[in-house]
Amino acid sequence: MTDIVPQLVDWYRREQRDLPWRRPGVTPWQILVSEFMLQQTPVARVEPVWLAWVERWPTPSATAAASPADVLRAWGKLGYPRRAKRLHECATVIATEHDDVVPSDVDTLLSLPGVGQYTARAVACFAYGRRVPVVDTNVRRVVARVVHGRADAAPSASARDLADVEALLPDDETAPEFSIALMELGAVVCTARSPRCGLCPLSTCAWRSLGFPASTGPAKRVQRYAGTDRQVRGRLLDVLRASDSPVTKAELDVVWLTDTAQRDRALDSLLVDGLVEQTDDGRFALAGEG
Ligand code: SF4
Repeated sequence: MTDIVPQLVDWYRREQRDLPWRRPGVTPWQILVSEFMLQQTPVARVEPVWLAWVERWPTPSATAAASPADVLRAWGKLGYPRRAKRLHECATVIATEHDDVVPSDVDTLLSLPGVGQYTARAVACFAYGRRVPVVDTNVRRVVARVVHGRADAAPSASARDLADVEALLPDDETAPEFSIALMELGAVVCTARSPRCGLCPLSTCAWRSLGFPASTGPAKRVQRYAGTDRQVRGRLLDVLRASDSPVTKAELDVVWLTDTAQRDRALDSLLVDGLVEQTDDGRFALAGEG
């Protein structure tokens, strides 16, 4: 297993994708923004939104000074818009309580709104070069295959995942690069459905050595979008984002006529999440514009 570090780091130096948040001069705040956006959204959709975002709001204080509605508009179609609200709150806390500087240690990062175990470790590692295990879905899958000889990771994350990756981390200055390389391998080579073992830089992989035994876990549910409350919420937000002034319930109602109870539930959830508010005369607007 000791060869895994140079093999993976050399491969990463040769093959890494040119992603804007990995370029020189990108600040810890801008890396944190990318991690918020990438949590549940593919790279190709994040890229243009991230570029526009960091140009418009390059610092936490600049983001904090923006209105919640402008933040929701800039979030655009990335989905899961609660992340935008949490990012705005996170910017406000960093601006007011941390002198506009993103903290560098995992525990302080974990105290910020919207920052969980993965994001805290990713920022500590990628922005500050800290030697901390960074574990996302891709990393869990690669470790399951390379170390444990299993097709897939366990259904849910556990402390064991961190310990597994910690055990692989080198003790020298290549640790952060190794962490990002492990994630990159899972994203582009050791993918969930069709690992491209012919392109893999690793000479040792337990799953390959065992002849690729099939997964023994439950079949994964395919996430659908069409017809879900998420889709309805997205359509309602589209109307509000496009309008400079509050809109009537009737203007919202037309976006989803097939299931009016579902539509009202989606609108209620946007109100509860604080992404939308209702004016005194009963119309609806993005947060802060009511
Ligand atoms: S050999 Fe195949 S399964 Fe093993 S790490 Fe490489 S790509 Fe993944």
